[in-house]
Amino acid sequence: MKRNTSAAKAIVCTVVLWTIPLLLAAQRSVPKLEDLPRRAIDTLDTDDSNIKIVIFTNNTWCYYYPDLNERMDREVYREHWVNDRVFAYTDIQLKELPPVIDLQLIDRYGDFHAPAIGKVFSKYGTRGRRRHQGVDIPLSVGEPIYAAFNGKVRYARYNTGGYGNLVIIRHENGLETWYAHLTRCNVAQDDYVTAGTVIGFCGNTGRSRGAHLHFEMRYCDQAFDPEHLIDFSTGDLRYQTFALDRSFFSIYSRASETLEEEDDYDESLLAVHSPDGELTSEDILENIESTTQAAIKQEQAKTDPLYHTIRRGDYLGKIARQYGTTVKRLCQLNNISEDAIIREGRKLRVR
Ligand SMILES: [Zn+2]
Repeated sequence: MKRNTSAAKAIVCTVVLWTIPLLLAAQRSVPKLEDLPRRAIDTLDTDDSNIKIVIFTNNTWCYYYPDLNERMDREVYREHWVNDRVFAYTDIQLKELPPVIDLQLIDRYGDFHAPAIGKVFSKYGTRGRRRHQGVDIPLSVGEPIYAAFNGKVRYARYNTGGYGNLVIIRHENGLETWYAHLTRCNVAQDDYVTAGTVIGFCGNTGRSRGAHLHFEMRYCDQAFDPEHLIDFSTGDLRYQTFALDRSFFSIYSRASETLEEEDDYDESLLAVHSPDGELTSEDILENIESTTQAAIKQEQAKTDPLYHTIRRGDYLGKIARQYGTTVKRLCQLNNISEDAIIREGRKLRVR
């Protein structure tokens, strides 16, 4: 019995030992070119003296920046460069910007990577007194967030104004991209990053309820709608070059150092209107907007004076009932006594 077991073990071992090299050989038979060890074989010039292309033996290539320091020292990364404040262009007003700013977004040296892919739950825009200067994309905690374009990290720290862990990257065309509520920053200020670098992870820090990426695009501190440029549902960039019209900014573009988040939304409204998730975020925001507008109108209406022209058969008690007020209030408003005779055709202030 014992001998039989030993024999079986020996057979199994032999089979395994013979199989391993066969498996390895099978794997070796389909090598991927790009997995092979690579050695640079050539360097090509581009029409930018700061950028070369390196060709490798395994048929791959990459951009090479002979002088990264020079690249990071470009004027756009030196002028108005502050690391401890979110706004860097406080001496430039919106009206001083040119009517149209031509932005080269990507070229053969600079790529694009969507910061995150997902449905925009809360859009850019102003609603009543609230302003939302970016877009919100709900994601799971810890999902990587990517640099949209090549650039230099201007700001990477915890922001007490509501953004939580916030990374701001300035790009060579002057555009800045903001990534807020991160669990932590994965880059440090003054780092040079390329499009697709993981700059942090989705979180819920700062004034935020629920893990999401709050993403902004700004030029000279002025915010505009990132959805002009990025389709967040597919992760695609809409244009290679973009004419940023000054009208895309709003008077609120740089109104506040602090984040005015969607936290102001009435939670009960969200709960009532989206019990089964059938309504889109646009519907919900529209509900919020119309409710807000109605409330504002109601408030304004309460303060506007209102007059009633006295008709035959009117008396103070009847008029008070009609306008939801009291006789006493009517007398105060019109400076009359409660037993005053009111004449037909006279105007009586009722509010
Ligand atoms: Zn937001």
